[in-house]
Amino acid sequence: HNDQLSQWDRENFFHPSTHLAQHARGETATRIIRTASGCHIEDREGNKLLDAFAGLYCVNVGYGRQEIAEAIADQARELAYYHAYVGHGTEASVTLSKMILDRAPDHMSKVYFGLGGSDANETNVKLIWYYNNILGRPEKKKIISRWRGYHGSGLVTGSLTGLELFHKKFDLPLAQVIHTDAPYYFRRTDAAQSEDQFVAQCVASLEELIAREGADTIAAFIGEPVLGTGGIVPPPAGYWDAIQAVLRKHDILLVADEVVTGFGRLGTMFGSTHYGMTPDIITIAKGLTSAYAPLSGSIVSDKIWKVLEQGTDENGPIGHGWTYSAHPIGAAAGVANLKLLDDLNLISNAGSVGAYLNQTMQEALGDHPHVGEIRGEGMLCAVEFVKDRDSRTFFDANDKIGPQIAAALLAQGVIGRAMPQGDILGFAPPFCLTKAEADEVVAKTVTAVNTVFQG
Ligand code: PLP
Repeated sequence: HNDQLSQWDRENFFHPSTHLAQHARGETATRIIRTASGCHIEDREGNKLLDAFAGLYCVNVGYGRQEIAEAIADQARELAYYHAYVGHGTEASVTLSKMILDRAPDHMSKVYFGLGGSDANETNVKLIWYYNNILGRPEKKKIISRWRGYHGSGLVTGSLTGLELFHKKFDLPLAQVIHTDAPYYFRRTDAAQSEDQFVAQCVASLEELIAREGADTIAAFIGEPVLGTGGIVPPPAGYWDAIQAVLRKHDILLVADEVVTGFGRLGTMFGSTHYGMTPDIITIAKGLTSAYAPLSGSIVSDKIWKVLEQGTDENGPIGHGWTYSAHPIGAAAGVANLKLLDDLNLISNAGSVGAYLNQTMQEALGDHPHVGEIRGEGMLCAVEFVKDRDSRTFFDANDKIGPQIAAALLAQGVIGRAMPQGDILGFAPPFCLTKAEADEVVAKTVTAVNTVFQG
């Protein structure tokens, strides 16, 4: 790697989410990715890797889709840019808004377009604050998020994210953000607790938080239908029903962050419908364009929209918008991507092959003495490693078991992700994964696990 590009990389390139000092010391090499097709990426040395994480759970339709590439190229030639301010729009962005609302739950009303998941959640918080100001309750502003939730890494979104790494040394979380329990049954502190009792405990601790802070100071609750970056954790049965009952009682809005689950990852169009959630706002990004171009959105409900409209009658235009809101190239990618999901039946494939992946992983590793739990939903799967199964004793963070297993898997040409907290190996493949590819992921995971625990 000691060539020109590697040198430029070390000298000039600021890598996101990276141990900067280790990288500068040359302890992490940069793999330059050159091309990709289907579920495989290829680096400039010609190594071909099966990407069982779809980039960062975003390339949902798979790599190399010419239909999307052509749509982007056509849009760039025809009209690379025009803004969407004050009575302007583009064919692509207006068409995409219609396609999104056609797919969204009936009570949703409009979509505001941004660029990525972080700025979409930033928009959500601003819209919620605007909403409560228009309703004349300026004290009702705090946002409840969960520990282990991931909602971005901006100032307010990094605050919402319930992972310490995103707070420490950044003076976060901001005071308006408060955290409650993660619905992480496997990591319950009381081993004897049933799932129902655990859900009741999550509800009780949410109720306590609301009582302590005062319901009239709390505007909204944000959550991913399935916790993603915090460990790929589907909620226990009944969790969302129980949480929503509390939120309704205290007039607290619900934001479903569907950046990962939106547009099919759970085998249904939206994760919120999968779990019977009735969100006031839905955050979308990643799967909206399958990452062929940056685009995100905040889908707002009728209830929110009516108040926002009223607000502009009283105060003039809404003071919120980016130059690149509803960028036509992102929108063209989104239109082509949503068509492809339909035409190739990819959401149903995500459901069926995802179930197959979870089942074969369970059969292959479910009884391993260092596997504590295998869990997933749709095309999401996680294997959590433990020091001891029966007592659920976890490894020390310094053991770096998750990263070691991910490295042993990569050495065989398969990309999984060591989730940032705990010894969890995560999979979120493209929806076009075949059963044969799922078999390869499982077989090589078994080899990786055996290599690390026997080696
Ligand atoms: N919300 C969720 C659930 C995410 O998983 C992510 C990114 O992984 C984000 C928000 C932030 O999105 P972005 O990285 O596009 O800003």
